[in-house]
Amino acid sequence: MERHRLVRDLSQLKEVWDIIVIGGGATGLGIAVDAATRGYRVLLAERDDFAKGTSSRSTKLVHGGVRYLAQGNVKLVREALRERGHLLRNAPHLTRQQDFIVPTYSRWDKLFYGTGLLTYDLLAGRLGIGQSRFLDKQEVLQRLPLADRKGLCGGIEYFDGQFDDARLAIGLARTAAEHGAAVFNHLAVTGLLHEAKKVSGVVLRDAFSGLTYEVRAKAVVNATGVFVDDVIRMDAPDSPRLVAPSQGVHIVLERSFFPTDSALMIPKTDDGRVLFAVPWQGHVVVGTTDTPVEEVLREPLPLREEISFIIFHVNKYLRTEVRESDVRSVFTGLRPLVRAFNTGNTALLSRDHTIVVSASGLVSITGGKWTTYRKMAKDAVDNAAFVGKLGKRPCITEQLRLHGWVSNVDRQDLLVGYGADAEPIRELMKEDPLLAEQLHPGHPYTMAEVAWSFRHEMAMTVEDVLARRLRLLFLDARAAIEAAPKVEAMRARLLGGPSQLAAFLDLAKGYLP
Ligand SMILES: Cc1cc2nc3c(=O)[nH]c(=O)nc-3n(C[C@H](O)[C@H](O)[C@H](O)COP(=O)(O)OP(=O)(O)OC[C@H]3O[C@@H](n4cnc5c(N)ncnc54)[C@H](O)[C@@H]3O)c2cc1C
Repeated sequence: MERHRLVRDLSQLKEVWDIIVIGGGATGLGIAVDAATRGYRVLLAERDDFAKGTSSRSTKLVHGGVRYLAQGNVKLVREALRERGHLLRNAPHLTRQQDFIVPTYSRWDKLFYGTGLLTYDLLAGRLGIGQSRFLDKQEVLQRLPLADRKGLCGGIEYFDGQFDDARLAIGLARTAAEHGAAVFNHLAVTGLLHEAKKVSGVVLRDAFSGLTYEVRAKAVVNATGVFVDDVIRMDAPDSPRLVAPSQGVHIVLERSFFPTDSALMIPKTDDGRVLFAVPWQGHVVVGTTDTPVEEVLREPLPLREEISFIIFHVNKYLRTEVRESDVRSVFTGLRPLVRAFNTGNTALLSRDHTIVVSASGLVSITGGKWTTYRKMAKDAVDNAAFVGKLGKRPCITEQLRLHGWVSNVDRQDLLVGYGADAEPIRELMKEDPLLAEQLHPGHPYTMAEVAWSFRHEMAMTVEDVLARRLRLLFLDARAAIEAAPKVEAMRARLLGGPSQLAAFLDLAKGYLP
């Protein structure tokens, strides 16, 4: 198989890469795209799958971060709003404008949030995507029929972006590869190489063969999110921890619980969090929590009280009667918040990104958010170019169209997220009627998409397909469990190797409430 051959070739290549990127989430993939399009020779190694970490577990918002405005962080919000504008233009098939309603229960709140959101629009400048406005009580109830009526005095409508996080990651991986980057999933960095006290490369371990390879580079970038400290300690074992991880849980419900196209935003819940209910892929995503955690797990699990907290608030603000058994899926992500010493509350830690260059020249980047991945990547590559003495080359990603870009986006098309790839997928269905079959009776995914993931999107496992190429595990964990044997059969036919069914079923249990 192509991937396995390419990995084996790494050992033969005596090439010294310009940049090696560790980690294939939003940040690492953004760096690979940036570096490759500047003309640097770049290799990216992701231990699991692209976006396996935090980057598939976000609230799916391309946003400036209204709450950071309330904290007075104007610079962060302005930068994120600018990036929101670029992303919506560069990946129109994977992003869309979303209207949000903030119901208000006092005149003061209406004025406070209204003024804030008008400022939000101003900060977006020419990259704005819609004008906020005040709504009276009737308008709020028309748009959010289930909003809590008691004390409701009106609300505000504002606009942000919405996206499919894991599919954007796949889009970035493909964009990087199309510009010459060598991009690998299931290839872990297990150690760093040093020469004359400088980082000079990495040790790679292939998850399938178990073989290890040594690969050299002029600069190494550590973009491993919440795992950033593990790699920093491969370089300098006594380094203090940079990241204070905080867990955020979302629940996914059927749309019948949220019969509207508008999203709900509650600026302040009982513990001072923002709560979102956002329509997504025929379902509604509700979240999130902010729970400091000690242990950084590859598959973080929700706490029972986090699920109860979300259900309590959704019932409170939407007059619904959601029960735990109504939850179709629960997913948990870890925020790589940069540690502020002497602060106990992770809700207060910096959402901005941080770059640290070690004495040996390892460039580590963490923090930030999906929306700002492009700017983070630019900053990281500037640092890597300096450390690796690569010579300055301008960043060109501000207007770079990402893989699949199309001029006319048909939002009704079930294959909209594939952009330009939708046509070849439709061709597959015409050529082979078996591929036109649905993967699961309750969801519109087809077997053609499963085949496409294995053949063209570097999916290597049942989980890669059901969690991140198609989003079934995140939308409906039980349906994903039911669909798994069909995906495994396709995987066995196309890729071979031992069955992965049991491993997937075990993992999927963690997404059931
Ligand atoms: C609950 C929650 C909601 C969020 N919602 C939003 C939102 O709506 N909008 C928004 O803009 N942002 C949001 N964010 C923030 C955003 O998701 C993150 O900032 C972003 O995904 C971080 O990406 P990353 O690449 O830095 O980290 P990750 O996505 O975690 O990627 C790091 C990768 O490194 C890999 N790795 C680790 N160790 C190694 C190794 N040794 N070798 C190779 N690979 C390795 C991991 O497998 C992982 O894939 C949210 C975050 C959370 C937690």
